[in-house]
Amino acid sequence: MDGRGLCTHHVVTAPLKIVRAQKQYMIDSMGVQYLDCVSNIAHVGHCHPQVVTAGKNQMATLVSAQGFMNDSLNKYVKQLLNYLPDVLCVCYLVNSGSEANDLALRLARSYTNRKDVVVFDEAYHGNLGNLIDISPKMFKRMAQGKKDFVHVIPYPDTYRGMYRDDPRAAEKYVMEAERIISQATRNNRNISCFISECIVVNCGVIVPPRNYYKLLYNLIREAGGVCIADEVQTALGRTGEYFWAFEHYSVIPDIVTTGKPLGNGHPMAAVITTREIADSLGEYYSTFGGNPVACAIGMAVLEVIDNEKLVQSAKAVGKTLLESLTQLKERHSCVGDVRGTGLCLGVEIVEDKCSRKPARELTQAIIMSLKEEHRILIQGQGPNHNVLTITPPMCFTQLNARSLYNALDAVLTAYANRSTLNVEVGSSMVQIPLVSSEDLRNLEEEEEVEGPEAKRPRTSYDDMD
Ligand code: PMP
Repeated sequence: MDGRGLCTHHVVTAPLKIVRAQKQYMIDSMGVQYLDCVSNIAHVGHCHPQVVTAGKNQMATLVSAQGFMNDSLNKYVKQLLNYLPDVLCVCYLVNSGSEANDLALRLARSYTNRKDVVVFDEAYHGNLGNLIDISPKMFKRMAQGKKDFVHVIPYPDTYRGMYRDDPRAAEKYVMEAERIISQATRNNRNISCFISECIVVNCGVIVPPRNYYKLLYNLIREAGGVCIADEVQTALGRTGEYFWAFEHYSVIPDIVTTGKPLGNGHPMAAVITTREIADSLGEYYSTFGGNPVACAIGMAVLEVIDNEKLVQSAKAVGKTLLESLTQLKERHSCVGDVRGTGLCLGVEIVEDKCSRKPARELTQAIIMSLKEEHRILIQGQGPNHNVLTITPPMCFTQLNARSLYNALDAVLTAYANRSTLNVEVGSSMVQIPLVSSEDLRNLEEEEEVEGPEAKRPRTSYDDMD
């Protein structure tokens, strides 16, 4: 028991051993099927037959064409570029989101001949040393700390950030960025680039205000830098309506990176930029990047997205889910905020709406209960680990959305009623008492003053007011 945490210390979390997966479902070693609300990697659905067949066939035909002309590469790159503005016309194929961001930094630095990088606080851009340096989520918790060439600006969180519920939040957050960049310039630092997710999933699915990026990109370019959109998580229609998250903001980045969804689980990623920026780099070479198997798989993914109208579906299913989750916010006092777009949604769990204090342990208990009782896999994100993040495969249906809503409602109702959560762990049932440690302390004090009668369970949040 610690802080205002829930008393879940006695619960042994059951590790999940996943052995296979299909569409939006994962199956464990006991044959139990779970609804996957997490995997933004199995973009068109786990083991989609068209993608599997494309990979198998290509693997049996040609795996590496290193140093020779490779038709599948040209075909795939052409197809991917069709989804981007004309000015973004040079594409590099690499093997991971980290590799893509590393190359993007190299491109920005070679083009501007500068080194410094502007990033969002709590951002994560990959696991290479170079990227840890520009990922506050990582370096803030490491001995190395922030390097001099990194300039951290606040992400525009209109729920929990410094400018909340403010119609002029975009302007105010950009003014804050301007202050930090001007300070850096005064210290003789030269900005090479700004890199961010446009919908900031890693910070807890932050959806910046509409005009934010227009203003911020102008500021960065005026300071001599280029703008990189990290679409490693948000690409290929994840955010609904558009193929890329940056399109929601009517801006065109100078460099776009993407990864996770491209290969539906096969390791492949891409960097796309302008001719001018690409020309500054000189030669580029990768052994596995753009190999025939990756390209065949990538091509199949794009075809499935098109054939199955997955971008339109993400928009429609996401809209319904967002609306229903918003009802949860009205009905449950621990649901502080519901936000997102398409199949990229976040539900922020708080101790109460007034204080907005993050409820980290409750978030963990909800995740666990959804898994154990409702067979739904969901994850927690954000700097306070209190944002339920919903990024399922794009074949997620309206029915799946309804199941998720019903399950979450049931779990939150149990919390509001302060009942215990019955959690099946392995072959035995374990009860998670949904009582915060502070509540427990209060109850103990009441008991001392008023006798055991005061220890009745509270029936709703109203009782607490
Ligand atoms: N950028 C973002 C926004 C990410 O979320 C991640 C991975 N979670 C990466 C980059 C790194 O991608 P990878 O793990 O494929 O190297």
